[in-house]
Amino acid sequence: MHKNFKGIEKTVFGRGAFSQLGPIVEARRGENDHFMLFLVDHYFKGKDLEGRIPAQPEDIVEFIDVDPEEPTTKQVDAIRDSVMASAGVPSAVIGIGGGSIMDLAKALSLMFTNEGSSVQYQGLNLVKKPGVYHIGVPTISGTGAEVSMTAVLTGPEKKLGLKCEWTVFNQVVLDPELIASVPRDKWFYTGMDTYIHCIESRDGILNNAYSTAFGEQALTLCREIYLGDKAGQTPENDEKLMVASLMGGLSLTYSEVGIVHALSYGLSKILGTKHCYANCVAFQHLGDYYPDGVAEFNEMIRKHNITLPKNLSKDWSEETITAMAQVSIKLEHMWNHAIGTDWKSKVSLDTVKDLFRRL
Ligand code: NAD
Ligand code: ZN
Repeated sequence: MHKNFKGIEKTVFGRGAFSQLGPIVEARRGENDHFMLFLVDHYFKGKDLEGRIPAQPEDIVEFIDVDPEEPTTKQVDAIRDSVMASAGVPSAVIGIGGGSIMDLAKALSLMFTNEGSSVQYQGLNLVKKPGVYHIGVPTISGTGAEVSMTAVLTGPEKKLGLKCEWTVFNQVVLDPELIASVPRDKWFYTGMDTYIHCIESRDGILNNAYSTAFGEQALTLCREIYLGDKAGQTPENDEKLMVASLMGGLSLTYSEVGIVHALSYGLSKILGTKHCYANCVAFQHLGDYYPDGVAEFNEMIRKHNITLPKNLSKDWSEETITAMAQVSIKLEHMWNHAIGTDWKSKVSLDTVKDLFRRL
């Protein structure tokens, strides 16, 4: 069986596209209880963008600090319950921020129409009904969360997405001007998530002409942004990075991620390490699995004077390493893609523990 995927319904791309959000939102105001829920990264509180959010007096604008932890099921349930109690079901949910805000917006859209806790929908196709209209406005690029079919949430037991067709945004607004203010380190780590998506998507058994077409183009853009003569955070490169993020996301959607993400999920779940940073921490040590990818990544690290930690594992207990390896090895689809259908004969819990000991 080949994968049958749903894409974003509508996309607007270009400098200044944020100003088109107003009419896009107004077109939905007749739906549900006639108000909008805006979820906005707290970085924008007090910034120029706050004044440009097209909110009416009846709308709810929630500023969310995504730094303490990645989105959780508890957080989604709490926002849903409080909005339902005070105003009802929104006409649309609009997320303005990075991958964390994208995931919150996608999950909340679904949780206004599906009863109970979001915990019960963590997994593939467990959601029962379509959500409310949802719009993604990325302000940092790389995760591909703006295009993916999943809303990754950390729950009491697992870090796992609400994954189904209805998770995908109805509309995205891609305005490269919004990512200009991203600090250099976050620009690097989040952008590298795209680069890693493309390498992992390419180097595995599920790679195909469709995923390669997106992946190769995204890799070309990443090379221009991070290694070319005009490398760095420029308006032109911001445009390229926004497109690379989208295409990297599509590449992995039609293929799969691999060992980097398998290890990264273990680090995030057990130690709370942020997704994009955790990928970089793991990727540097996986040259035997992804030789040319890691070599090029190291060039990018040098060019942008990024320092990644080494020898982290010397401070980890045996229990911590085992717990991370257990999270990682359960991501069977990633190991299967990266190593092959006989991966279980090649990768044991001890193999994965040894990979964590490299970090
Ligand atoms: P993020 O949303 O976690 O934000 C990272 C930081 O950048 C925050 O401090 C934020 O305040 C800041 N920031 C955002 N935009 C800014 C701007 N324009 N200027 C200045 N600062 C800005 O970032 P992320 O790396 O995009 O997302 C990581 C999250 O995405 C994780 O929770 C991860 O699990 C999730 N993720 C989801 C998918 C998916 O397919 N759904 C894929 C990969 C990762
Ligand atoms: Zn990723």
